Amino acid sequence: ILKNNYTLRTVLSPSEKGCFVVIYMDRTEKGELMIYLDNAATTSPIPLEDMYRDYEKDGWYNPSALYKGALDVEKELTKERDLLKKIINADNMIFTSCGTESANTIIFNGWKKEGGRKFHFITTMYEHACVYESFRELEAQGHEVTFLEPGRKGYISEEDLVKEIRDDTALIAIMHVNNETGAINDIAALSRAAKKVKKDVLFFSDGVQGYLKVPFDMRDSEVDYYTASAHKIHGLKGTGALFFRNGTPLKAYIHGGGQERNLRSGTENTFGIYAFYKAAKDFSEHFDEYTSHMRELRDHLDELLRKETDYVRVTPDNCAPHILNVYFKGMRGEVLLHLLEREGIYIATGSACSSKKGNSRVHGSIGLTREMSECVVRISFSHLNTLAETEETALKIHEALSKFQHFIRR
Ligand code: PLP
Repeated sequence: ILKNNYTLRTVLSPSEKGCFVVIYMDRTEKGELMIYLDNAATTSPIPLEDMYRDYEKDGWYNPSALYKGALDVEKELTKERDLLKKIINADNMIFTSCGTESANTIIFNGWKKEGGRKFHFITTMYEHACVYESFRELEAQGHEVTFLEPGRKGYISEEDLVKEIRDDTALIAIMHVNNETGAINDIAALSRAAKKVKKDVLFFSDGVQGYLKVPFDMRDSEVDYYTASAHKIHGLKGTGALFFRNGTPLKAYIHGGGQERNLRSGTENTFGIYAFYKAAKDFSEHFDEYTSHMRELRDHLDELLRKETDYVRVTPDNCAPHILNVYFKGMRGEVLLHLLEREGIYIATGSACSSKKGNSRVHGSIGLTREMSECVVRISFSHLNTLAETEETALKIHEALSKFQHFIRR
């Protein structure tokens, strides 16, 4: 039963009937216990050895070249693109370098520019920085942007949105799954409601935390643009996707050799794309199994942590299966994170890119005070996590809270 990366961690004393309870845990190379629960930041890559052998043999040709080997690579790219599109029934898709590049391309070049005319845009205060900061840049260029606040309910309602739509609103951007709290926005309903008010308004949803975690069909919605990133689903960093509907305006953001239908120049990262495809294929073939496993672990941890007196769950009820955002009153998130790190358990205080700047923008928009915000931690799962890891984490959190009882500010 013992696999390469797994070691026997605990054998509880056998009962008189000879029953053993055995827990297997991942270990670092040094043999220390390692429980990785920061899967919303990034995920471990799928095994790559066989894939690299394929790449080394005949997968490395430039897909834009004209000889047979290159044409075969291009054929592979088409197969890979088709699968990634099929997952959400998208009309079109281009490969990019990451979710950030996909979002920038849409926000700066996914709407009809008319000379120097200034437009109005709508987004939310709790978008990922790649969306939020891009809209701040549009503001600096003289456009007007409305930033919606989800408030305590944690998601954007149709009423919140439609009352802000104006005649000059060009593009709306509302994320699918919030990367801090796991809240799901009903982007199918929001996009339909928006188009009822203004037929030609364009709708973008950042799907980096939603793709292959929450069911979504682009054809059953009025979403025009959607994005994904390989490293959130056990692919590699450096590969992203931009999905778009037929007939929507989209111009190149990176200019050059005209790859990706003239919409994103630069030789495609064929190995990264291959890994993206393989990871997405595995995920889509096991979608129900993986998502219900993550949900089970997340709900189990929630249930165990509820026994702590100072526990508050931030994640709303309608949420993605992999994220649990919580705080323990008076216990700074950063302190808890480092106490767990000493035990080989990795969690986050927030998204990786906000961890050095603080999360006040996102937390403030969902009604958390600064004191609460400082205590928030994000625990995020992959289908590779186990029940034993979840229980061990709950136990170590309990021990940390008990040990630091005297220092907790009330
Ligand atoms: N959007 C969301 C919701 C994210 O969580 C992230 C990454 O954390 C991104 C966008 C950026 O993706 P990438 O790291 O591929 O640039």
